[in-house]
Amino acid sequence: MTDHLTPDRRRWNMSRIRARDTGPEKALRSMLHRLGYRFRLYRRDLPGTPDVVLPRYRTALFLHGCFWHRHPGCRYATTPGTRTAWWQAKFERTVQRDEAVRAALEAAGWRVVVIWECALRDPAALAARLAEALPRLADPPPDAPAAGLAAAEDKAPYTTPGRAGGRES
Ligand SMILES: [Zn+2]
Repeated sequence: MTDHLTPDRRRWNMSRIRARDTGPEKALRSMLHRLGYRFRLYRRDLPGTPDVVLPRYRTALFLHGCFWHRHPGCRYATTPGTRTAWWQAKFERTVQRDEAVRAALEAAGWRVVVIWECALRDPAALAARLAEALPRLADPPPDAPAAGLAAAEDKAPYTTPGRAGGRES
């Protein structure tokens, strides 16, 4: 089953697959930062060179482009209508490599979290999912300031987005 991408959509796909430090990566990083996680980038000593590593929680995050890494059921995981067999072989290798990387990390005691790039299009849902998937932050201060989250973003490790103004009682 193949499909025919519009030039715009193809460009969007291709723009997602550049090397490191792309827009999506920055978006993920600032989201993690807002959630209060401290992280390191590109631990090259780890299998698969995870995009982001939370050393304290022994958690490795991969930001996977839906096209290359074949996000199951995702509308961006298209297959080009030309050279289809070549693409399929390439995709298969990528998926197999991803599985091997996950197995190696898990065998070494790491938690592996895969973020699909399309999820960045709904930041609120992704933030909620991350808060669910990632280990809890240890001992958040009980009265983190609810206001000024944006201003505090650069220095406060423990603020929690989504709670501003939502405090009951
Ligand atoms: Zn996707």
